[in-house]
Amino acid sequence: MTQIKATNITWHEGHVTRDAREKLLNQKGVLIWFTGLSASGKSTIAYTLEHALVERGHLAYVLDGDNIRHGLNKNLGFSAEDRTENIRRIAEVGKLFVDTGVVTCTSFISPYRADRDGARQIIGPDRFIEVFVDTPIECCEQRDPKGLYKKARAGEIKGFTGIDDPYEPPSNPEIVINAEEVSPQEAAVRVIELLESRGDVPRMSP
Ligand code: ADP
Repeated sequence: MTQIKATNITWHEGHVTRDAREKLLNQKGVLIWFTGLSASGKSTIAYTLEHALVERGHLAYVLDGDNIRHGLNKNLGFSAEDRTENIRRIAEVGKLFVDTGVVTCTSFISPYRADRDGARQIIGPDRFIEVFVDTPIECCEQRDPKGLYKKARAGEIKGFTGIDDPYEPPSNPEIVINAEEVSPQEAAVRVIELLESRGDVPRMSP
C-alpha cells in the first residue's frame, strides 16, 4: 500500500470534552472487541447486544467486518498485511466512536494477537473490552451460514482462518463465550453485566 504522509497539519482541540458527551448520554464510550473464527457468532452476539443496549436507553453501534469491507476497507484483502491494516483502521474508527461516548461493538475475526493488542493500545486499555467468541471450529464449520468453510475445504478460498491461516487466541480476554453453549441473548447479558460492574452503563433499577 502507498504510504502518504501529510505535513503541515495541526491537531484541533474541540471545546466539548468526552466527559461532557458522556454525561449527556449517561454512559461511557467503550469498545467491545469481538474476536473469533468465522461463524463463531461474533456478529449475531454484537447485534443482539446493540439491540439490548438501545432498548435500555443507551447509544450503541456495531462496526461489522463484512460491512466495513464493503466501504472503508474495500481496497483490502486477506493477506497478513491487509488483515493488519484492516484492524488498524477499525481501531482508529473505533477510537473516534469511543470519543463520542458510544458503546461501540466491533465484529472482526482479527486473527492476530499483535493486531488486537495494537487496537487495545490505540483505544486505550481502560476503554477496551476483548470478547473471545470461543466456539469450536467443528461447530463453526457445521453452521457455515455463508458456505465459506465448504469453499475453503474445497480449495476455492485460500488463506481461510482456521483452515489454512492461523487464529491466535487472546491470552487475556475480558470475556470468553462459547457460543455452542451460550445463546446470543445470554452472551449479551454477560457483556452488559461487565459494563455495569465497570460503571460504563448504570445498573438497571430493580
Ligand atoms: P461471525 O460473525 O462470527 O462470522 P455470525 O454471527 O455471522 O458469525 O454467524 C454465526 C451463525 O451461528 C449464525 O447463523 C447464527 O444464527 C448461528 N448461531 C447459532 N447459535 C448461536 C449462538 N449461541 N450465538 C451466536 N450465533 C449463533
